[in-house]
Amino acid sequence: MTGSLLKDYPGIIEIKKPLAPLTTMKVGGQAEMYAEPAREEEALDILTRAEKEGIRWRIIGGGSNIIVVDGVLQGLVVNLGRCCSEMKVKGAYIETGSGVMLPRLSRLAEEKELTGLEFAFSIPGTVGGAVRGNAGMGELGEMKDLIQALQVWIPGKGRTKLSASHIHFGYRTSSLKNQKNVILKVSMQLSPGDKKEIEKIKKKVNERRKGHPTGYPSAGSIFKNPPGYYAGQLIEEAGLLGVSVGGAQISQQHGNFIINKGGARAGEVLNLVDMVRERVAKTRNINLDLEVEVWDNC
Ligand SMILES: Cc1cc2nc3c(=O)[nH]c(=O)nc-3n(C[C@H](O)[C@H](O)[C@H](O)COP(=O)(O)OP(=O)(O)OC[C@H]3O[C@@H](n4cnc5c(N)ncnc54)[C@H](O)[C@@H]3O)c2cc1C
Repeated sequence: MTGSLLKDYPGIIEIKKPLAPLTTMKVGGQAEMYAEPAREEEALDILTRAEKEGIRWRIIGGGSNIIVVDGVLQGLVVNLGRCCSEMKVKGAYIETGSGVMLPRLSRLAEEKELTGLEFAFSIPGTVGGAVRGNAGMGELGEMKDLIQALQVWIPGKGRTKLSASHIHFGYRTSSLKNQKNVILKVSMQLSPGDKKEIEKIKKKVNERRKGHPTGYPSAGSIFKNPPGYYAGQLIEEAGLLGVSVGGAQISQQHGNFIINKGGARAGEVLNLVDMVRERVAKTRNINLDLEVEVWDNC
């Protein structure tokens, strides 16, 4: 099956591509096949072919919300960073490709004195990943506050326009997770602002970040906050700060971060995830849900 895709896209489909460098956690093995197409048409043709041939495909954005398992991840991973990277501004309206990194988009908004995207300036993901998971930072904003419409590709249906009113957004989730689709373009409505106000909001974002560990690779918050609780606090109360398995450690600074102290394997990160879940369920009778996605062969 993989043969015909490879034959038709020589030099574009890479085999056994290491994925760890493409993630912020820096763990995990290789993609059986990987493509970073230069044009959107090419990306959609590759995806259509993969779909027809029954090859499991996934889209990788900034790799900042995934943990890729060790070994070989079966199927095809497609990166839209090259082909979906255009940004257009018209008044307070921005149309952006899904492969654009949020800090770049946030800087563009600031340059144009538009407010609304300050929360995104230090989130290391792409627009596509952020829309799908409704990335945000509490009252400082969420993607859902800005999105007007999306252009998506749906297998068997092709390019489709979705208006925001047809998408359900929740805490770190959206209805886009319920069906196979690829986000291609996003239209957003911001508001006119001024540089001083934008700076003030960015300072608040920095304040929030102060308790977060820096200096080691991580995937941001591992668990969602259960209603009425902070996952980090529950993990701290369970006595798990600083606990390590191999090169993976529950940060001493913030319980909801697992950091890669050097050479960690995905299996070690996932051992810590299981340990946290068991301990918090036992001590507090609370089941923690993952905020990150585990990419495995199941
Ligand atoms: C240091 C750090 C700080 C963080 N801070 C925050 C924060 O403040 N707030 C917050 O919400 N998150 C935060 N995160 C988490 C993460 O950055 C966000 O969830 C981000 O939106 C993920 O985007 P991504 O492009 O990296 O997605 P990836 O991790 O690459 O992928 C995540 C999911 O999105 C899918 N996906 C990606 N692109 C597309 C597309 N174009 N079409 C369809 N599906 C797609 C992938 O297939 C996958 O299922 C942080 C992470 C780190 C490492």
